[in-house]
Amino acid sequence: MIIVMKPSATKEQIAMVENKLMELGFKTHPIYGEVKTVIGAIGDKRNLNTHYITTLPGVEALVPIMKPYKLTSRELKQDPTIVEVGDVKLGGEEIVVIAGPCAIENKDSFIKTAISVKNAGAKILRGGAYKPRTSPYSFQGLAADGLKIMAEARNVTGLKIVTEVVDTRDVEIVAETVDIIQIGARNMQNFRLLQEAGLSGKPVLLKRGLSATIEEWLMAAEYIMNEGNHNIILCERGIRTFETATRNTLDISSIPIIKELSHLPVIADPSHASGTWKYVPALSRGAIAAGADGLIIEVHPDPNSALCDGEQSLKPSTFAALMEELKPIAAAVKRML
Ligand code: PEP
Ligand code: MN
Repeated sequence: MIIVMKPSATKEQIAMVENKLMELGFKTHPIYGEVKTVIGAIGDKRNLNTHYITTLPGVEALVPIMKPYKLTSRELKQDPTIVEVGDVKLGGEEIVVIAGPCAIENKDSFIKTAISVKNAGAKILRGGAYKPRTSPYSFQGLAADGLKIMAEARNVTGLKIVTEVVDTRDVEIVAETVDIIQIGARNMQNFRLLQEAGLSGKPVLLKRGLSATIEEWLMAAEYIMNEGNHNIILCERGIRTFETATRNTLDISSIPIIKELSHLPVIADPSHASGTWKYVPALSRGAIAAGADGLIIEVHPDPNSALCDGEQSLKPSTFAALMEELKPIAAAVKRML
């Protein structure tokens, strides 16, 4: 439920309402708006005397949240959430592009790629250190050594860095090193991992599961937010359908739907959605036109020799050309790139 405080409510009154709710067994999530403060209260309402809450000083109204996802819903928070990663803001006017190779393979190639994506206008650098692969015999990533290389690339370029974590035991080391923790499609419903990512306090990039409905995806985000971490970036990366011409099917409609149902920013991953580099530009254009707050694109200096996802990786020159192509599309939807 949402406790809407009066515009005149004092800090003490807000704190008092929160304390009462906590005494009654609720977890509280205050949202301080410009005019009003609302308190999201999550817990068992069955034995609650709602009349008692509405009579507390400073309370204007009590509104139930009808959707199963609560903290992530627009019902709780009407203003869009802007996730701030240092000076990079996701969910605001600017479209943020994240780029880099699927996996960190070695220092030289990673730093070279980092410099090229930065020069093309990317704001965040991606790279997998722990690679969840369909086959246990495929390259599994450089793990902690990969994280060190990422940190070096950040020093060289000033780009923020994002990497995937696949195991709760690695959340701490990943959170210490990177600016954003990625939860991959295969782990979208790994609830312990979601909770740990929530507790890490770092912004979380939450990919949509391979066969997850939008509601399941938002429920996964709810697990992270329920740990007090409100900095979540949703990522549509294609879902599994009957179509085999592409690796997955980019569900472009999820973008406006997420915007309607949730206040969280949503970005698109045209690389994993298409599985083929030549379709990446069209899907990128489409996602931005549909209202995505950003893109995450795989870029490799020599896709033919990539240890992971080379078929869907853009060469740095193609990526730079795409960034230019996206500018007028961003402007057409009143965004900046
Ligand atoms: C990735 O980003 O490299 C990745 C493994 O993506 P997904 O979880 O969407 O498959
Ligand atoms: Mn990949």
